[in-house]
Amino acid sequence: MSARTIVRCARLFTGLEEQARSNQTLVIEGGVFRHVVPTAEAPPQQPGDSVMDAGAHFVMPGLADAHTHLVFGNARSEEDIDFWTTPEFRALRGLFFAQRVLAAGYTSVVVPGDAGNCSIAVRDAINAGLFTGPRIAASSNVIANRHSLNDWFPEHVGTPDYVSGRLCTTREAQLAEVRRQAKAGVDCIKVAMDGTHFREDGTHIAAFTQDEISAMVDEAHRLGKKVVTHAYGKEAVLYAARAGVDVINHAFFADDACIEAMLRSGSKVSPTLTFLRNNVEFSADHEPSVGSGYKAAQLRVIEVAKKTLRRMREAGVPFVAGSDSGFAVTPYGEWHAREIEILVDWIGFTPGEALRIATSGTAALLPRGNTLGAIAPGRRADFLFVAGDPLQDVRILQRKDAIAAVHLDGRAVRIEERAYDPYKVTHLSSLKWTEVYTRERVAAK
Ligand SMILES: [Zn+2]
Repeated sequence: MSARTIVRCARLFTGLEEQARSNQTLVIEGGVFRHVVPTAEAPPQQPGDSVMDAGAHFVMPGLADAHTHLVFGNARSEEDIDFWTTPEFRALRGLFFAQRVLAAGYTSVVVPGDAGNCSIAVRDAINAGLFTGPRIAASSNVIANRHSLNDWFPEHVGTPDYVSGRLCTTREAQLAEVRRQAKAGVDCIKVAMDGTHFREDGTHIAAFTQDEISAMVDEAHRLGKKVVTHAYGKEAVLYAARAGVDVINHAFFADDACIEAMLRSGSKVSPTLTFLRNNVEFSADHEPSVGSGYKAAQLRVIEVAKKTLRRMREAGVPFVAGSDSGFAVTPYGEWHAREIEILVDWIGFTPGEALRIATSGTAALLPRGNTLGAIAPGRRADFLFVAGDPLQDVRILQRKDAIAAVHLDGRAVRIEERAYDPYKVTHLSSLKWTEVYTRERVAAK
């Protein structure tokens, strides 16, 4: 029998319930929880057992983020994501940032679309034991169509090999890309169901037809891969739900027909509102996000989204928690747990429900996800010691000093704090001015 670790917990949140238990003992063997029992009923200690006492810390499963783009590099623009660095550099940087995510208490991460094989390489390097890092559900390029998200450059640029999108404008190309990604070893496939085009009445136009998304999902599922999608508009959400997409990101303009279709298909919703909230709160007046009207538009989207997502919660649509980390307003390791605060404040979940969503609910998206995200016999021993009680105030999970210890497979991980200077690499937008200096503008200054 291998050496066991015994963990004494004054307060334990298992990730499978909405309350905490008191005075529990965890027995870990081979990186897996063997027993989770009241301390009074714990199996006797054996010679060779090591004992950890969580003291006053709140013990809970490692958190899971359904939406972190490991290779976006805290991007300030689409060009920043796609142009200024090589795929090789992005993979190395992605590994560095994956460790920042882990240090924040996130032991599981879903990457919903990335460039090339970067997140696959980061996942494999961690799984092979080369580096410490979170468990990763990897993906490859976002399957895009004309005017969807990730087809953000002009038509004459398209999607060169090194960018995060992959234009697939025919049914044959879409299926071939699904098969290519499956062969490359992705865990999930991202499809950009809508993006930038609207009808005159302001509704979003889906970028793929029902027939196209259904064919991609059927083929991905046949090959054992999950499908996640970006969909704001009701048309995109409806098509995605009818096709059986596993996770619909955003779904802000979904209507009752969408909700019904999601309940029938079991599609989960990942609001991923942290990105929008941070953008509207942090974008300063001098930034293009303000001048272009992007911030104002997102403010309006948030107001609709709050109502839509509350209706989804009441109807019983399953939620997962994602932050869209990887942008300048959502840097890695900083804001992941803000989505938990949003689930409580904006969508109406109790703290216990939101924590359950952000642990076992979201970890279920990873490969062998039913062995992750919870403190229960048979699950991997990924857990946190938290200073404070997140059931009283979920916001404490955003504080670095509250994440007192992170354990993976029953062992405490130590991530060295290391500064990263983006100005030392070609990780820069070429934007130099945000105004056009006509004589009139100069005179007005
Ligand atoms: Zn995203």
